[in-house]
Amino acid sequence: MKIQNLGEFAFIDSIKSETITDSSTLRVGIGDDCAVYIPTEGMDQIVSTDVMVEDVHFSTNTTKPFDIGYRLTAANLSDLAAMGSTARQVLLAVAVPKEYDVIKLQTIYDGVKALCKEWQVNIIGGDTVSTKGPLVLTMTAIGELPANTAILRSGAQEGDYIGVTGVIGSSSVGLDVLLSQEEGYSFSKNAHQRPMPQLAVGNLLRAMGVHAMNDISDGLANELYEIAKASNRCLYIEAEKIPLHEETRKWGEKKGINPIEFALFGGEDFQLVFTFSEELLEEVKQHPNMTVIGRVGEAGDTVFLMTDQSTEILSKDGYDHFS
Ligand code: ADP
Ligand code: MG
Repeated sequence: MKIQNLGEFAFIDSIKSETITDSSTLRVGIGDDCAVYIPTEGMDQIVSTDVMVEDVHFSTNTTKPFDIGYRLTAANLSDLAAMGSTARQVLLAVAVPKEYDVIKLQTIYDGVKALCKEWQVNIIGGDTVSTKGPLVLTMTAIGELPANTAILRSGAQEGDYIGVTGVIGSSSVGLDVLLSQEEGYSFSKNAHQRPMPQLAVGNLLRAMGVHAMNDISDGLANELYEIAKASNRCLYIEAEKIPLHEETRKWGEKKGINPIEFALFGGEDFQLVFTFSEELLEEVKQHPNMTVIGRVGEAGDTVFLMTDQSTEILSKDGYDHFS
């Protein structure tokens, strides 16, 4: 069925089930003029929005509707993770072509609900409009963290170490592999289709007292430059230390691409990059999901990539939406 045959109100009714996963933070969900949610005392409320446009940020040719919803939610919750917060609520506004298949849109919601359930996040509202353009999905996410403890990009200090969570570059390898219709590479394909926002580890890093943090959505190079610029510090990255999955090395070898490029310029890993003082070095090194990749240096805004042979200015060419 097309969305225009079902109508706005019947559509909203149809996606209402399983939108509440934690009723303790909510008075009023979908169905009234506004949602009413309950902030926890002593916590700052943090909020962020992401827009995804069909054929710009996703394509139903390469991504299943369920995974579109899942990835949209992962991107939003990843922003909350990057401040060290707990995710609480999301709103999802959709601009839908009249001819759009209802089941497809409902399946996108199923993907949203799946990840929301995993992190006990409520879907508390949105808006539904029709458009002559492509499908547009706009998600707003609300989280909370102890007052005045949000970890900013601007907090990097000279002498800090730089760490990352997980492995970097696997999502873009996964996309490449999917586009090539290659068998295998299941870790990378999964990293692309079902990325996991790093909310738990983001919270832990905040509690540990890291100085600066950013999520890796547009490639590690881009995110490092954002920290460098916001903190007015030069960053020194050891190329060899950037954690890559073995599939990334294998795919790089097959394609004749230096695998580090997937990490630096690939994007959509939704891992975290952070800077921290020497006191935390042992704790970070011991953590199974964290890797130290470099140091914060003098005032400036340049990121340097160091190998055994040389130290070079890191190219900035992460994924840029206007290039
Ligand atoms: P209003 O006219 O007051 O904006 P709507 O009819 O647009 O109300 O929405 C009714 C309820 O449904 C509201 O709670 C709104 O947040 C929710 N809602 C509308 N569209 C969506 C959507 N696409 N996803 C989730 N909730 C939605
Ligand atoms: Mg409305």
